[in-house]
Amino acid sequence: HDEQAAAKAAAATADSGAPTIFDKIINKEIPSSIVYEDEKVLAFRDINPQAPVHVLVIPKVRDGLTELAKVTKLPYLYAEARHGEILGQLLYAARIVAEKEGILDGFRVVINSGPSACQSVYHLHLHVLGGRQMNWPPG
Ligand code: IMP
Repeated sequence: HDEQAAAKAAAATADSGAPTIFDKIINKEIPSSIVYEDEKVLAFRDINPQAPVHVLVIPKVRDGLTELAKVTKLPYLYAEARHGEILGQLLYAARIVAEKEGILDGFRVVINSGPSACQSVYHLHLHVLGGRQMNWPPG
């Protein structure tokens, strides 16, 4: 459908390591509603929320992280053992977000990887969704 076609087009035109809108958010060049931030991770509200709470958790890209954070080709989720620390920090931030937003009793953490999963921004991000009954299977 439309969303998937748009995601495929985004993937087709994206270059590995190319700046995305999330770089501007990290650099505060465009505003965002920040829920949590530390040296390595930023969490901010999704502009098009799919639930009462919908926060994105992203790594701040530094040297050596580009290949993890900005993957535009197979395997779209480029996670290796050496990325364990940052991947753990992303999940820890997701937990902090869930606590702050009062949804610890039930929430969902999602990574859309690649065009078939409707990934539209090619900078690794965890969706933290909650505040309503989450259904299964997802769309
Ligand atoms: P994806 O579809 O998994 O790649 O998720 C990308 C998410 O980024 C979507 O849910 C968009 O709504 C969200 N998004 C895109 N641009 C912005 C922005 O400028 N601020 C906040 N969220 C954004």
